[in-house]
Amino acid sequence: MEKCVYPFAETDESSELYDKFATCDNDFDRMKIAYQFNPSFVKAKKNFKNDTYSEQHREKGNKKFAETKFNDALLHYNVAIRYAVVGKNLSLAYSNRSAVLFQIEEYECCLRDINMALEVGYPKELEYKLYYRACKSYKALGLKDKVKECVKKFKKSLDGIEMKGEKIEKLLKDLLAITTHKQDNYSHLFSRTPKIQIPNSKFPSLTHDVVVHYTEEQGRFIKSTKDLAIGQLVAVEKPFERVLDCDSESMISTQEALIIMDCLETAGYFHKELDLDEKSWCAGLIYRQSLIFETNAVGTYEAVFKENDSAISIKHCNTGSAVYNTLSLLNHSCSPNCCFVYYNDDVVALKTIRRVKMNDPLTIDYGTAFQDMEAEERQKKLWCQYFFNCDCEASAFGEMKQSWKFSKKNEHIILDCMNIFEKYTLWPNHDINLGQDLLRKVWSIGGKHWIAKF
Ligand SMILES: [Zn+2]
Repeated sequence: MEKCVYPFAETDESSELYDKFATCDNDFDRMKIAYQFNPSFVKAKKNFKNDTYSEQHREKGNKKFAETKFNDALLHYNVAIRYAVVGKNLSLAYSNRSAVLFQIEEYECCLRDINMALEVGYPKELEYKLYYRACKSYKALGLKDKVKECVKKFKKSLDGIEMKGEKIEKLLKDLLAITTHKQDNYSHLFSRTPKIQIPNSKFPSLTHDVVVHYTEEQGRFIKSTKDLAIGQLVAVEKPFERVLDCDSESMISTQEALIIMDCLETAGYFHKELDLDEKSWCAGLIYRQSLIFETNAVGTYEAVFKENDSAISIKHCNTGSAVYNTLSLLNHSCSPNCCFVYYNDDVVALKTIRRVKMNDPLTIDYGTAFQDMEAEERQKKLWCQYFFNCDCEASAFGEMKQSWKFSKKNEHIILDCMNIFEKYTLWPNHDINLGQDLLRKVWSIGGKHWIAKF
Protein backbone atom coordinates (compact mmCIF):
# COMPACT_ATOMS: atom_id res chain seq x y z
CA MET A 1 0.00 0.00 0.00
CA GLU A 2 1.40 3.37 -0.93
CA LYS A 3 2.18 5.76 1.87
CA CYS A 4 -0.78 8.11 2.16
CA VAL A 5 0.25 10.19 5.12
CA TYR A 6 3.53 12.02 5.37
CA PRO A 7 4.43 13.35 8.75
CA PHE A 8 6.36 16.21 7.18
CA ALA A 9 6.27 18.35 4.11
CA GLU A 10 7.96 16.74 1.14
CA THR A 11 11.55 17.77 1.31
CA ASP A 12 14.83 16.05 0.60
CA GLU A 13 15.01 14.90 4.16
CA SER A 14 11.40 13.71 4.34
CA SER A 15 12.20 10.05 3.76
CA GLU A 16 14.71 9.94 6.59
CA LEU A 17 12.30 11.83 8.82
CA TYR A 18 9.54 9.45 7.94
CA ASP A 19 11.58 6.41 8.93
CA LYS A 20 12.57 7.89 12.29
CA PHE A 21 9.04 9.07 12.92
CA ALA A 22 7.63 5.61 12.19
CA THR A 23 9.78 3.93 14.85
CA CYS A 24 8.42 6.11 17.68
CA ASP A 25 5.78 4.59 19.91
CA ASN A 26 4.29 7.78 21.38
CA ASP A 27 3.30 11.26 20.27
CA PHE A 28 5.78 13.05 22.54
CA ASP A 29 8.77 11.28 20.97
CA ARG A 30 7.33 11.99 17.53
CA MET A 31 7.17 15.70 18.32
CA LYS A 32 10.69 15.61 19.74
CA ILE A 33 11.93 14.31 16.42
CA ALA A 34 9.98 17.01 14.64
CA TYR A 35 11.67 19.65 16.80
CA GLN A 36 15.13 18.16 16.48
CA PHE A 37 14.95 18.26 12.71
CA ASN A 38 13.91 21.87 13.03
CA PRO A 39 11.95 21.68 9.81
CA SER A 40 12.09 24.75 7.69
CA PHE A 41 8.37 24.69 6.92
CA VAL A 42 7.49 26.10 10.35
CA LYS A 43 9.42 29.26 9.56
CA ALA A 44 8.01 29.42 6.06
CA LYS A 45 4.48 29.05 7.36
CA LYS A 46 5.01 31.66 10.04
CA ASN A 47 5.61 34.50 7.64
CA PHE A 48 2.57 34.05 5.50
CA LYS A 49 0.72 37.17 6.70
CA ASN A 50 -0.09 39.46 3.81
CA ASP A 51 -2.36 42.48 4.15
CA THR A 52 -2.86 42.97 0.42
CA TYR A 53 -3.97 39.39 -0.04
CA SER A 54 -6.22 39.72 3.00
CA GLU A 55 -7.81 42.88 1.63
CA GLN A 56 -8.47 41.25 -1.73
CA HIS A 57 -10.39 38.47 -0.03
CA ARG A 58 -12.25 40.90 2.20
CA GLU A 59 -13.43 42.75 -0.89
CA LYS A 60 -14.48 39.49 -2.56
CA GLY A 61 -16.34 38.64 0.64
CA ASN A 62 -18.11 42.01 0.59
CA LYS A 63 -19.27 41.36 -2.94
CA LYS A 64 -20.67 37.94 -2.04
CA PHE A 65 -22.26 39.43 1.06
CA ALA A 66 -24.03 42.06 -1.04
CA GLU A 67 -25.34 39.23 -3.23
CA THR A 68 -26.54 37.48 -0.02
CA LYS A 69 -24.27 34.54 -0.84
CA PHE A 70 -23.37 34.16 2.81
CA ASN A 71 -21.51 30.86 2.61
CA ASP A 72 -19.19 32.20 -0.08
CA ALA A 73 -18.72 35.44 1.83
CA LEU A 74 -17.78 33.45 4.95
CA LEU A 75 -15.07 31.56 3.10
CA HIS A 76 -13.50 34.79 1.79
CA TYR A 77 -13.59 36.43 5.21
CA ASN A 78 -11.95 33.34 6.73
CA VAL A 79 -9.05 33.79 4.34
CA ALA A 80 -8.99 37.55 4.97
CA ILE A 81 -8.67 36.92 8.71
CA ARG A 82 -6.01 34.27 8.29
CA TYR A 83 -3.76 36.50 6.21
CA ALA A 84 -4.35 39.90 7.86
CA VAL A 85 -1.59 41.44 9.94
CA VAL A 86 -2.80 42.38 13.44
CA GLY A 87 -4.32 45.87 13.19
CA LYS A 88 -6.98 47.68 11.22
CA ASN A 89 -7.12 45.14 8.40
CA LEU A 90 -7.65 42.26 10.77
CA SER A 91 -10.30 44.16 12.70
CA LEU A 92 -12.23 44.92 9.51
CA ALA A 93 -12.08 41.29 8.44
CA TYR A 94 -13.43 40.19 11.82
CA SER A 95 -16.12 42.83 11.71
CA ASN A 96 -17.25 41.81 8.23
CA ARG A 97 -17.30 38.16 9.17
CA SER A 98 -19.43 39.00 12.19
CA ALA A 99 -22.00 40.49 9.79
CA VAL A 100 -22.22 37.17 7.91
CA LEU A 101 -22.39 35.19 11.12
CA PHE A 102 -25.23 37.42 12.24
CA GLN A 103 -27.10 36.76 9.00
CA ILE A 104 -26.74 33.00 9.33
CA GLU A 105 -27.82 33.20 12.98
CA GLU A 106 -24.50 32.07 14.43
CA TYR A 107 -24.87 34.65 17.19
CA GLU A 108 -22.24 33.33 19.58
CA CYS A 109 -19.62 33.24 16.85
CA CYS A 110 -20.78 36.67 15.72
CA LEU A 111 -20.21 38.10 19.22
CA ARG A 112 -16.78 36.48 19.42
CA ASP A 113 -15.78 38.12 16.13
CA ILE A 114 -17.13 41.50 17.30
CA ASN A 115 -14.96 41.27 20.41
CA MET A 116 -11.94 40.32 18.34
CA ALA A 117 -12.55 43.27 16.00
CA LEU A 118 -12.76 45.67 18.97
CA GLU A 119 -9.61 44.21 20.47
CA VAL A 120 -7.36 44.48 17.45
CA GLY A 121 -7.98 48.09 16.47
CA TYR A 122 -11.39 48.65 14.93
CA PRO A 123 -11.80 52.34 13.95
CA LYS A 124 -13.33 54.26 16.90
CA GLU A 125 -15.75 56.19 14.72
CA LEU A 126 -17.35 52.95 13.49
CA GLU A 127 -17.57 51.11 16.79
CA TYR A 128 -21.25 51.94 17.16
CA LYS A 129 -21.98 49.58 14.24
CA LEU A 130 -20.43 46.67 16.09
CA TYR A 131 -22.27 47.45 19.32
CA TYR A 132 -25.50 47.71 17.36
CA ARG A 133 -24.92 44.23 15.92
CA ALA A 134 -23.88 42.91 19.32
CA CYS A 135 -27.13 44.19 20.89
CA LYS A 136 -29.16 42.32 18.32
CA SER A 137 -27.12 39.15 18.79
CA TYR A 138 -27.56 39.21 22.56
CA LYS A 139 -31.24 39.74 22.01
CA ALA A 140 -31.43 36.74 19.69
CA LEU A 141 -29.68 34.65 22.35
CA GLY A 142 -32.21 35.83 24.93
CA LEU A 143 -29.58 37.52 27.13
CA LYS A 144 -31.54 40.54 28.38
CA ASP A 145 -28.90 41.91 30.77
CA LYS A 146 -26.29 41.77 28.07
CA VAL A 147 -28.60 43.67 25.72
CA LYS A 148 -28.99 46.47 28.29
CA GLU A 149 -25.26 46.64 28.92
CA CYS A 150 -24.59 46.69 25.20
CA VAL A 151 -27.14 49.43 24.48
CA LYS A 152 -25.19 51.61 26.95
CA LYS A 153 -21.95 50.90 25.10
CA PHE A 154 -23.69 51.65 21.83
CA LYS A 155 -24.87 55.05 23.09
CA LYS A 156 -21.43 55.84 24.47
CA SER A 157 -19.80 54.93 21.16
CA LEU A 158 -21.92 57.64 19.49
CA ASP A 159 -20.20 60.37 21.56
CA GLY A 160 -18.31 62.79 19.41
CA ILE A 161 -19.47 61.21 16.17
CA GLU A 162 -20.87 63.42 13.50
CA MET A 163 -24.02 61.72 12.44
CA LYS A 164 -27.37 63.18 11.61
CA GLY A 165 -29.86 63.11 14.48
CA GLU A 166 -32.43 61.15 12.50
CA LYS A 167 -30.03 58.36 11.67
CA ILE A 168 -29.13 57.92 15.32
CA GLU A 169 -32.80 58.07 16.24
CA LYS A 170 -33.53 55.32 13.76
CA LEU A 171 -30.81 53.06 15.13
CA LEU A 172 -32.01 53.60 18.70
CA LYS A 173 -35.57 52.95 17.65
CA ASP A 174 -34.44 49.71 15.99
CA LEU A 175 -32.75 48.62 19.17
CA LEU A 176 -35.90 49.27 21.19
CA ALA A 177 -37.91 47.32 18.65
CA ILE A 178 -35.83 44.20 19.17
CA THR A 179 -37.78 43.46 22.33
CA THR A 180 -40.40 41.85 20.11
CA HIS A 181 -39.37 38.60 18.46
CA LYS A 182 -40.41 38.02 14.92
CA GLN A 183 -41.86 34.67 13.91
CA ASP A 184 -41.30 33.17 10.50
CA ASN A 185 -43.68 31.10 8.41
CA TYR A 186 -41.72 27.90 8.65
CA SER A 187 -41.55 27.23 12.35
CA HIS A 188 -44.29 24.63 12.08
CA LEU A 189 -42.11 22.55 9.75
CA PHE A 190 -39.47 22.06 12.39
CA SER A 191 -39.62 19.65 15.24
CA ARG A 192 -37.92 20.04 18.57
CA THR A 193 -34.71 18.22 19.33
CA PRO A 194 -35.84 14.71 20.26
CA LYS A 195 -35.09 13.10 23.62
CA ILE A 196 -33.94 9.56 24.32
CA GLN A 197 -36.74 8.03 26.37
CA ILE A 198 -34.75 5.40 28.26
CA PRO A 199 -31.05 6.20 28.13
CA ASN A 200 -28.31 3.60 28.17
CA SER A 201 -26.92 3.24 31.68
CA LYS A 202 -23.28 3.65 30.61
CA PHE A 203 -23.61 5.98 27.60
CA PRO A 204 -26.43 8.45 28.30
CA SER A 205 -26.48 9.75 24.69
CA LEU A 206 -27.60 6.29 23.54
CA THR A 207 -30.91 4.48 23.96
CA HIS A 208 -31.01 1.37 26.17
CA ASP A 209 -31.77 -0.68 23.03
CA VAL A 210 -28.09 -0.63 22.07
CA VAL A 211 -24.79 -1.42 23.78
CA VAL A 212 -21.18 -0.50 23.25
CA HIS A 213 -19.38 -3.69 22.40
CA TYR A 214 -15.67 -4.49 22.10
CA THR A 215 -13.77 -6.99 20.04
CA GLU A 216 -10.04 -7.08 19.51
CA GLU A 217 -10.52 -6.92 15.77
CA GLN A 218 -12.97 -4.02 15.60
CA GLY A 219 -12.30 -2.13 18.82
CA ARG A 220 -15.34 -0.48 20.38
CA PHE A 221 -18.53 -0.15 18.38
CA ILE A 222 -22.27 0.24 18.95
CA LYS A 223 -24.63 -2.69 18.34
CA SER A 224 -28.33 -3.31 18.88
CA THR A 225 -29.69 -5.61 21.56
CA LYS A 226 -33.04 -6.09 19.79
CA ASP A 227 -34.62 -5.68 16.35
CA LEU A 228 -35.01 -2.01 15.44
CA ALA A 229 -37.57 -0.61 13.00
CA ILE A 230 -36.83 2.06 10.37
CA GLY A 231 -36.84 5.61 11.70
CA GLN A 232 -36.03 4.69 15.28
CA LEU A 233 -34.18 7.19 17.41
CA VAL A 234 -30.97 5.64 18.72
CA ALA A 235 -28.90 8.53 20.04
CA VAL A 236 -28.93 12.27 20.66
CA GLU A 237 -25.63 13.99 21.35
CA LYS A 238 -24.04 17.41 21.60
CA PRO A 239 -20.56 17.81 20.16
CA PHE A 240 -17.47 17.77 22.32
CA GLU A 241 -15.72 20.15 19.95
CA ARG A 242 -16.90 22.06 16.92
CA VAL A 243 -15.42 24.35 14.25
CA LEU A 244 -16.90 26.30 11.39
CA ASP A 245 -15.29 25.07 8.21
CA CYS A 246 -12.71 27.16 6.51
CA ASP A 247 -11.22 26.32 3.16
CA SER A 248 -7.66 25.97 4.41
CA GLU A 249 -5.57 23.56 2.42
CA SER A 250 -5.36 20.44 4.47
CA MET A 251 -2.40 20.67 6.79
CA ILE A 252 -0.18 17.87 7.86
CA SER A 253 -0.91 17.25 11.54
CA THR A 254 2.75 17.39 12.54
CA GLN A 255 3.12 20.84 11.04
CA GLU A 256 -0.12 21.93 12.52
CA ALA A 257 0.99 20.92 16.03
CA LEU A 258 4.32 22.73 15.69
CA ILE A 259 2.72 25.86 14.30
CA ILE A 260 0.08 25.96 17.04
CA MET A 261 2.82 25.49 19.64
CA ASP A 262 4.78 28.30 18.04
CA CYS A 263 1.73 30.58 18.19
CA LEU A 264 1.12 29.74 21.85
CA GLU A 265 4.76 30.38 22.74
CA THR A 266 4.87 33.64 20.81
CA ALA A 267 1.68 34.77 22.55
CA GLY A 268 3.29 34.13 25.96
CA TYR A 269 0.90 31.34 26.83
CA PHE A 270 3.43 29.39 28.88
CA HIS A 271 4.85 32.25 31.00
CA LYS A 272 8.35 30.80 30.65
CA GLU A 273 10.69 29.38 28.07
CA LEU A 274 10.03 25.66 27.59
CA ASP A 275 12.79 23.11 27.18
CA LEU A 276 12.67 20.51 24.43
CA ASP A 277 10.96 17.87 26.58
CA GLU A 278 8.24 20.23 27.73
CA LYS A 279 7.70 21.56 24.24
CA SER A 280 7.48 18.06 22.78
CA TRP A 281 5.03 17.04 25.46
CA CYS A 282 2.68 19.95 24.76
CA ALA A 283 3.04 19.60 20.99
CA GLY A 284 2.32 15.87 21.39
CA LEU A 285 -1.04 16.67 22.96
CA ILE A 286 -1.90 19.08 20.18
CA TYR A 287 -0.76 16.54 17.59
CA ARG A 288 -2.99 13.90 19.12
CA GLN A 289 -5.94 16.28 19.15
CA SER A 290 -5.50 17.12 15.48
CA LEU A 291 -5.34 13.41 14.59
CA ILE A 292 -8.53 12.80 16.55
CA PHE A 293 -10.22 15.59 14.63
CA GLU A 294 -9.02 14.22 11.31
CA THR A 295 -10.42 10.74 11.89
CA ASN A 296 -13.38 11.41 14.19
CA ALA A 297 -14.94 14.70 13.15
CA VAL A 298 -18.11 14.66 11.08
CA GLY A 299 -19.69 17.39 9.00
CA THR A 300 -22.55 19.39 10.50
CA TYR A 301 -25.46 20.55 8.37
CA GLU A 302 -28.25 23.03 8.47
CA ALA A 303 -31.50 23.07 6.53
CA VAL A 304 -31.94 26.00 4.15
CA PHE A 305 -35.32 26.83 2.71
CA LYS A 306 -35.80 27.92 -0.82
CA GLU A 307 -39.12 29.48 -1.56
CA ASN A 308 -40.86 30.49 -4.72
CA ASP A 309 -44.52 31.09 -5.54
CA SER A 310 -45.56 27.49 -5.81
CA ALA A 311 -43.31 25.47 -3.56
CA ILE A 312 -40.89 25.35 -0.73
CA SER A 313 -37.85 23.16 -1.03
CA ILE A 314 -35.11 22.44 1.41
CA LYS A 315 -31.48 21.66 1.05
CA HIS A 316 -28.76 20.95 3.52
CA CYS A 317 -25.74 23.22 3.79
CA ASN A 318 -22.50 22.26 5.45
CA THR A 319 -21.84 24.48 8.45
CA GLY A 320 -18.64 22.96 9.82
CA SER A 321 -17.25 19.91 11.57
CA ALA A 322 -17.68 18.52 15.06
CA VAL A 323 -16.47 15.66 17.24
CA TYR A 324 -19.05 13.57 19.10
CA ASN A 325 -17.76 11.45 21.97
CA THR A 326 -20.18 8.54 21.80
CA LEU A 327 -21.18 8.71 18.15
CA SER A 328 -17.54 8.48 17.12
CA LEU A 329 -17.76 4.84 18.26
CA LEU A 330 -20.04 4.04 15.30
CA ASN A 331 -18.66 1.66 12.70
CA HIS A 332 -18.56 2.42 9.02
CA SER A 333 -20.46 0.87 6.15
CA CYS A 334 -20.70 2.13 2.57
CA SER A 335 -24.39 1.18 2.84
CA PRO A 336 -25.10 2.04 6.48
CA ASN A 337 -28.18 1.28 8.56
CA CYS A 338 -28.25 4.66 10.37
CA CYS A 339 -27.96 8.33 9.52
CA PHE A 340 -27.43 11.58 11.37
CA VAL A 341 -30.20 14.18 11.62
CA TYR A 342 -29.12 17.63 12.77
CA TYR A 343 -30.94 19.86 15.23
CA ASN A 344 -29.86 23.40 16.09
CA ASP A 345 -26.88 23.01 13.79
CA ASP A 346 -24.79 20.65 15.79
CA VAL A 347 -26.94 18.47 18.03
CA VAL A 348 -27.04 15.14 16.26
CA ALA A 349 -29.78 12.55 16.42
CA LEU A 350 -28.93 9.09 15.14
CA LYS A 351 -31.81 7.32 13.42
CA THR A 352 -32.13 3.96 11.72
CA ILE A 353 -32.73 4.09 7.98
CA ARG A 354 -32.97 0.34 7.47
CA ARG A 355 -34.29 -2.45 9.62
CA VAL A 356 -31.65 -3.52 12.12
CA LYS A 357 -31.53 -7.06 13.49
CA MET A 358 -30.56 -7.91 17.05
CA ASN A 359 -26.76 -7.90 17.50
CA ASP A 360 -26.16 -6.02 14.23
CA PRO A 361 -23.57 -3.26 14.51
CA LEU A 362 -25.03 0.21 13.92
CA THR A 363 -23.28 1.93 11.04
CA ILE A 364 -22.96 5.29 9.33
CA ASP A 365 -20.87 6.04 6.26
CA TYR A 366 -17.60 7.89 6.76
CA GLY A 367 -18.17 10.04 3.70
CA THR A 368 -17.99 7.12 1.27
CA ALA A 369 -21.58 6.19 0.51
CA PHE A 370 -21.75 3.66 -2.30
CA GLN A 371 -24.27 5.88 -4.12
CA ASP A 372 -21.64 8.60 -4.43
CA MET A 373 -18.44 6.69 -5.11
CA GLU A 374 -17.15 3.68 -6.97
CA ALA A 375 -15.67 0.88 -4.87
CA GLU A 376 -12.06 1.69 -5.72
CA GLU A 377 -12.46 5.34 -4.78
CA ARG A 378 -14.15 4.38 -1.52
CA GLN A 379 -11.34 2.03 -0.54
CA LYS A 380 -8.72 4.65 -1.24
CA LYS A 381 -10.45 7.34 0.79
CA LEU A 382 -11.09 5.04 3.74
CA TRP A 383 -7.50 3.87 3.78
CA CYS A 384 -6.00 7.33 3.51
CA GLN A 385 -8.17 8.93 6.18
CA TYR A 386 -9.02 6.04 8.51
CA PHE A 387 -6.42 3.34 7.78
CA PHE A 388 -8.73 0.41 7.19
CA ASN A 389 -9.86 -1.65 4.24
CA CYS A 390 -13.63 -1.79 3.94
CA ASP A 391 -15.20 -5.18 3.28
CA CYS A 392 -18.80 -4.09 3.86
CA GLU A 393 -21.71 -5.55 1.90
CA ALA A 394 -21.65 -2.65 -0.56
CA SER A 395 -18.72 -4.25 -2.42
CA ALA A 396 -21.34 -6.35 -4.25
CA PHE A 397 -23.52 -3.39 -5.21
CA GLY A 398 -22.26 -2.58 -8.71
CA GLU A 399 -25.50 -3.22 -10.57
CA MET A 400 -27.82 -1.99 -7.90
CA LYS A 401 -26.18 1.37 -8.11
CA GLN A 402 -27.57 1.69 -11.63
CA SER A 403 -31.10 0.94 -10.49
CA TRP A 404 -30.67 3.41 -7.66
CA LYS A 405 -29.79 6.07 -10.20
CA PHE A 406 -32.88 5.16 -12.21
CA SER A 407 -35.19 5.38 -9.22
CA LYS A 408 -33.76 8.75 -8.29
CA LYS A 409 -34.51 10.17 -11.70
CA ASN A 410 -38.19 9.28 -11.34
CA GLU A 411 -38.82 10.53 -7.91
CA HIS A 412 -41.18 13.43 -7.29
CA ILE A 413 -40.40 14.34 -3.83
CA ILE A 414 -41.81 17.28 -1.91
CA LEU A 415 -38.75 17.86 0.16
CA ASP A 416 -35.87 18.32 -2.19
CA CYS A 417 -33.22 17.03 0.17
CA MET A 418 -29.76 17.29 -1.21
CA ASN A 419 -28.32 15.31 1.63
CA ILE A 420 -28.09 11.66 2.48
CA PHE A 421 -31.46 10.93 3.93
CA GLU A 422 -33.57 10.45 0.83
CA LYS A 423 -31.15 8.23 -0.99
CA TYR A 424 -30.82 5.81 1.88
CA THR A 425 -34.49 5.66 2.61
CA LEU A 426 -35.44 5.27 -1.04
CA TRP A 427 -32.89 2.61 -1.72
CA PRO A 428 -33.37 -0.30 -2.12
CA ASN A 429 -37.15 0.13 -1.96
CA HIS A 430 -37.88 1.26 -5.47
CA ASP A 431 -41.38 2.11 -4.36
CA ILE A 432 -41.35 5.89 -4.39
CA ASN A 433 -44.40 6.34 -2.15
CA LEU A 434 -42.94 4.13 0.50
CA GLY A 435 -39.68 6.01 0.15
CA GLN A 436 -41.40 9.34 0.70
CA ASP A 437 -43.19 8.10 3.78
CA LEU A 438 -39.98 6.79 5.20
CA LEU A 439 -38.26 10.00 4.36
CA ARG A 440 -40.80 12.05 6.27
CA LYS A 441 -40.56 9.72 9.20
CA VAL A 442 -36.78 9.83 9.35
CA TRP A 443 -36.28 13.37 8.36
CA SER A 444 -37.81 15.52 11.02
CA ILE A 445 -35.82 18.68 10.77
CA GLY A 446 -34.07 20.52 13.55
CA GLY A 447 -35.07 23.97 14.74
CA LYS A 448 -32.22 26.11 13.48
CA HIS A 449 -32.45 27.33 9.94
CA TRP A 450 -32.43 30.36 7.79
CA ILE A 451 -34.40 31.36 4.76
CA ALA A 452 -32.17 31.55 1.74
CA LYS A 453 -32.76 34.46 -0.56
CA PHE A 454 -32.54 33.35 -4.16
ZN1 LIG B 1 -17.60 -0.48 2.23
